Amino acid sequence: MGLGGSGLAAVEELTARGLSVVGLDAGRVAAGAAGRNGGLLLGGTAPFFHGAVRDWGAEPATWLYRQTLAELDHLLDVLPAGVVRRSGSLRLAGGVDADDDERARELADCAAQAAALREHGIAVEEVSGAFGEGLFLPDDAQANPVVRHLGVLAHVQRAARDHGTRLHLHEGTHVRRIMPGRVETDRGVVSAGVVLVAVDGRLDVVLPQLGGEQPRVRTARLQMLATAPLDDDDAARVRERVPCGVYERWGYDYAQLDDGVPGRGPRLLVGGGRDVDPEAEWTTTTDPTPRVQTHVERVAERLLGRTLGAGEVAHRWGASVGYTAPDAAGRALCGLVDARVAAVGGYCGTGNLVGAVAARAAVRLLLDGERPPSCFIHPLRGHGQ
Ligand SMILES: Cc1cc2nc3c(=O)[nH]c(=O)nc-3n(C[C@H](O)[C@H](O)[C@H](O)COP(=O)(O)OP(=O)(O)OC[C@H]3O[C@@H](n4cnc5c(N)ncnc54)[C@H](O)[C@@H]3O)c2cc1C
Repeated sequence: MGLGGSGLAAVEELTARGLSVVGLDAGRVAAGAAGRNGGLLLGGTAPFFHGAVRDWGAEPATWLYRQTLAELDHLLDVLPAGVVRRSGSLRLAGGVDADDDERARELADCAAQAAALREHGIAVEEVSGAFGEGLFLPDDAQANPVVRHLGVLAHVQRAARDHGTRLHLHEGTHVRRIMPGRVETDRGVVSAGVVLVAVDGRLDVVLPQLGGEQPRVRTARLQMLATAPLDDDDAARVRERVPCGVYERWGYDYAQLDDGVPGRGPRLLVGGGRDVDPEAEWTTTTDPTPRVQTHVERVAERLLGRTLGAGEVAHRWGASVGYTAPDAAGRALCGLVDARVAAVGGYCGTGNLVGAVAARAAVRLLLDGERPPSCFIHPLRGHGQ
């Protein structure tokens, strides 16, 4: 259930085992956060690597980092050339409203991150330039999220045909109730040997036992905007500041310059500001708000080097993601919520690659009884990891 990046990875894994698979989504493939995100494909997970090493231990943090990079290699293998651009990513210190002290504090954190990455053999460079100062992570990549997922969908359908397995994907099919072996939707009932819920935002709505007074996972809105296609001068200026996927201010704000559509210039895509109005962003609604959009616009203007005129923002949008509780220290959920029913989600805003890794781990749990690694936590309280 759920046909975003995580659900599609699960479908791929299940069909590769020769199983008959039914995929359900209330909307369309990648119509959730999977198709509406910043498109940064980053090694590791929401907490920066040194934080994950400190809070989870070196072995689980390194395992997950390597799995996300392997997932990226896999995407490069199965998608048409150019869909994923392995241009690296930049973590920059500072950003809108950051003063010298804050920038210095974040630079010190970048240094700690670089030291931890090097210690574990992961590529990183300390850099400074027109974009600012921080870290370059050459293994990372960027993609248009919709193009990525539609490419994965085509790959999965091809693979199912090649394996001679039955694959039925139902879009526009809202799941109402999930029980062992049975999923009730607004269009009928599906019987299944195993059920995997691969929903990030609104997981606490789909599985209310994960919400409540002490939620294991909570839905938040993240917001973005896209400029109209840029002319050559603007594009050249932005390219100096956004040469690849960029995130700054502790990862709260992020941007990429896309390829644009043929014959028109590239567009600047900017997201962030979740901390600007934090309480209001704990919501299951996805409409963009003036307060966060004003912040995101200021980030865009800084990267553009000028103010944005009327009509220069072409699109504004929001989408839902899941955040695990503070005691999870940024770990995502992966585990059984009922007999033969597993759930994954709660990627804390960085689920493009981790989601697929979690979904594949959930398939191994459901079919092989393999316990998920300790970089994930159990979806239900009181079940240990
Ligand atoms: C604005 C924004 C920017 C982001 N930027 C980045 C980034 O740059 N890098 C990064 O790594 N991550 C980023 N993220 C996070 C990332 O997009 C998500 O973590 C990831 O896409 C989650 O994928 P998923 O497949 O698990 O879930 P989703 O994409 O949320 O898919 C879940 C699917 O489940 C379906 N569903 C929900 N309820 C039901 C139901 N009752 N019945 C049937 N179907 C249902 C939904 O329709 C949806 O298609 C961003 C997120 C947002 C919102």
